[in-house]
Amino acid sequence: MKIRLASGRDKPVRFGHPWIFSGAIAALPDRAGIADVFASGGELLGQGFYTPHARLAVRMLTHMGEPAFTPKTIEARIARAIDRRHGLIDEHNDSVRLVFAESDFLPGLVVDKFASTLAAQFNSAFAEAYRESITAALQNLINPERIIDTSDNEARNREGLPAIRRMNNREECLIQSGGIRFAAAIGSGQKTGFYLDQRENRAIVAGFASGKRVLDAFCYSGGFSVACLKAGAQSVTAIDSSADALALLKRNAELNAAQISPKGRLLPVEADVFTELRKQNSDGKKYDVIVLDPPKLAPSRSHAAAAEKAYKDLNLHGLHLSAEGAILATFSCSGAMTHEKLRQVLHYAAHDAGRQVQLLQPLVQANDHPVLLSFPESEYLRGYLCRVL
Ligand code: SAH
Repeated sequence: MKIRLASGRDKPVRFGHPWIFSGAIAALPDRAGIADVFASGGELLGQGFYTPHARLAVRMLTHMGEPAFTPKTIEARIARAIDRRHGLIDEHNDSVRLVFAESDFLPGLVVDKFASTLAAQFNSAFAEAYRESITAALQNLINPERIIDTSDNEARNREGLPAIRRMNNREECLIQSGGIRFAAAIGSGQKTGFYLDQRENRAIVAGFASGKRVLDAFCYSGGFSVACLKAGAQSVTAIDSSADALALLKRNAELNAAQISPKGRLLPVEADVFTELRKQNSDGKKYDVIVLDPPKLAPSRSHAAAAEKAYKDLNLHGLHLSAEGAILATFSCSGAMTHEKLRQVLHYAAHDAGRQVQLLQPLVQANDHPVLLSFPESEYLRGYLCRVL
């Protein structure tokens, strides 16, 4: 199959970007498959997987000068992605993202290793078309106990793929992430059973927690909470609106009980964070370490303005609850919220709160979720570690 781009639409591909939207294609073929992609002038730019009727019509597989794509390429790319993570797996850490889609040159394929279980997401028509080769390669390279399909059905829907039915029974997997034991609920309602992308940030935040009063807002299964308790926090107030998440949090605290001082108190709160922070503020509560790790508040660029307001509101209330000199770790996992924008939101919030804020370091997604320079969309988790004066 051949695909010719419309005039002047070849630049991103030439710079290695893996996506071509349907509007950039001169004439749209009507069947899916591997296509040679040409510039409007007739020059071959590489090969991509074409999906009819999808706005994201082509996902590039090779760029000019690279060897041609064959089904064998898949196993080779998975093997290389796994190799790049070797240093991350040891007796303290048995769970990593092995394949991060476009960043590992496998568009729409995500593979997480949770101890001896693999969770795979087939989020593109490309990944679906090669499901068997992918699964065989994973068996061959990792020999996992099981592979659970945790595909993102919204992403599949955009590619015209049928939804994957979630299992009703939750598969619990006991893992170690950053030296902490966790129960990960793979294949349950949640797309991911555990957020691997915060591994490094949990260790950074825990470094400030000894003897402190910690607030973990949007705690999910307690990644930050348990890290802080293990590091000797005096108390951890952990807020989430999901009762299931809080049940996992308690289970995770128990799994690490042997390394948690009996003096460290875990205070789970089932509530809406925005409401609860206001309430605690009017009660005069203060914390020494605060984590704000909300879900995506800006699902797409069109929600950006509303989302910025929500981030500002959240940070404003986080700042109100900060004791003098408190450490604030504030995050966004909305792709549209750049570090620059997050910093601006924080600045406005600090102004409204009447506080000075020192930025200690920017925070990013863990290094098993690499950001590909030619694919800025792979950068999604951003944050700042701050001191609130
Ligand atoms: N910090 C977690 C990950 C957070 S994921 C970790 O390190 O693992 C986001 C969480 O926010 C989910 O558990 C979801 O249940 C919760 N959530 C979403 N909206 C919420 C709200 N308005 N109030 C409280 N919790 C919310």
